[in-house]
Amino acid sequence: MTDCLFCAIATGDIPAAIVSETDRVVVFRDVSPQAPTHVLAIPRSHIRNVGELAQTDPSLAAEVLAAATQAAIDLGLADDGYRVVFNTGNEGGQSVDHVHAHVLGGRQMTWPPG
Ligand code: AMP
Repeated sequence: MTDCLFCAIATGDIPAAIVSETDRVVVFRDVSPQAPTHVLAIPRSHIRNVGELAQTDPSLAAEVLAAATQAAIDLGLADDGYRVVFNTGNEGGQSVDHVHAHVLGGRQMTWPPG
């Protein structure tokens, strides 16, 4: 098995609450939600962060964003609004080194983040 948690979720080796999937992208619920609705959109392929994704495969970056957007719509977040976050690197708060878009909604978000 891969030692990357999100690669293992993408292959189904580690279970997750899947919201949607295509041949290249998976959306699943965050196991420790920070909002009433909190899902993660990832590419199946192992890419470390959003910068690497954007620079190496812009069409896949667009698919991840499209999946995140569709999940927000399907989960009822679109009317009231929601937040999409790519934590990047240590000081960006990234703890899993497989790029993921957080989609958070269902409560008022504050700014700036902590
Ligand atoms: P980040 O800190 O931006 O790298 O976000 C990683 C996210 O992955 C956190 O919000 C975790 O709660 C979430 N997470 C960790 N393990 C799992 C898992 N097995 N299934 C779903 N989400 C997870």
